[in-house]
Amino acid sequence: MIYLDNAATTRIDEEVLAVMTPFLRENFGNTQSQHSYGRAAANALTEVRDKIAALLSCKPEEIYFVSGGTEAGNTALKGVCAERGKGHLIVSAIEHPALLESAEDMRKLGFTATFLNPDKNGRIEPESVAAAIREDTVFCAVMAANNETGVIQPVKEIGEICKARGVFYYADCVQSACTQPLPTGYCDAFGISAHKFYGPKGAGAIYIKSGSKISRLISGGRQERGLRGGTVNTAAAIGLAKAFELACKERENSAAYLAKLRDKFLSRVFAEIDGTHLNGGGEILPSHANISFDGCEGENILFYLDLNGVAVSTGSACSAGAVTPSRALMAAGLSESRAKSAVRFTFGKYNTFEEVDNTVEILKRAVAAIRK
Ligand code: PLP
Repeated sequence: MIYLDNAATTRIDEEVLAVMTPFLRENFGNTQSQHSYGRAAANALTEVRDKIAALLSCKPEEIYFVSGGTEAGNTALKGVCAERGKGHLIVSAIEHPALLESAEDMRKLGFTATFLNPDKNGRIEPESVAAAIREDTVFCAVMAANNETGVIQPVKEIGEICKARGVFYYADCVQSACTQPLPTGYCDAFGISAHKFYGPKGAGAIYIKSGSKISRLISGGRQERGLRGGTVNTAAAIGLAKAFELACKERENSAAYLAKLRDKFLSRVFAEIDGTHLNGGGEILPSHANISFDGCEGENILFYLDLNGVAVSTGSACSAGAVTPSRALMAAGLSESRAKSAVRFTFGKYNTFEEVDNTVEILKRAVAAIRK
């Protein structure tokens, strides 16, 4: 099987698994316990928090372990809302549902929200953020890179605007963390998720700038300095830290390798399959290629590829038998037929050039069969 759905999740790195295993077996203590098992777990947690903070050039107390990107986004948006009580939110229309649905939840509680559309390249213009800020705006979410197209967003510029206008800025870095530097210093909070960079699922972290006014999402014990109750999944945090360390160490080489794989794939697809279009423009993550195929439904390509040993995804959602085209592609102004004909190919460090070539051959047969 050729796995080209690395934006959905990645296979765990053996090195990561190796450092996690002892914390699932013999070092199983609860970080809150006062005996030696607990202290060993707590010390290990302190060590990995320090490690992540050093990699992010921030303070250890600015890092909170959470279950992943969804919880990080919920924590930021709902945590700011709970603190402020009322106000206006700005959320880009291309955010992950973690942010979009959180904003909808808050609307039900009386907050107002503006959902910002990107330009035709799928980029949120900083000027549109500036124009959307109102007197009562309390929160803004624009992701570092989009999960469907991979389009990189102007986080630094948006961060400067939000800072100048006193708006809390959250940047979802779930897709970008593997190949791009993290935006410490440009935003009030950002989230990462280990399973997107060869770590375990259910393991993430949120950076929250010290001094930020934010309420907890999960009430409980005093874990994570009272921001997030619940026994810490020590093995997951240790896995996250190792995976993040490797991602940071390999970042440049990995980005260069993925770009070569992806660019070879794109040049072959465009040269050998007519009626193909790249979705998203400007700067795109090296891992991503979102392509529309005239005269095809993305779902049909996905199923054909799956039957022939290639795993990809579409941004479409299937509910009650009907296919709803990707929200992010529609927000960028693509026609419904083009959005429905999109397929997302996302490359990872375990992919090879041979796999790229094999995928193109299978894809050519898929498109020809479907168009017929
Ligand atoms: N944000 C983005 C941009 C994502 O792509 C994803 C997962 O696909 C998430 C958030 C959710 O992350 P998690 O699966 O860790 O909850």
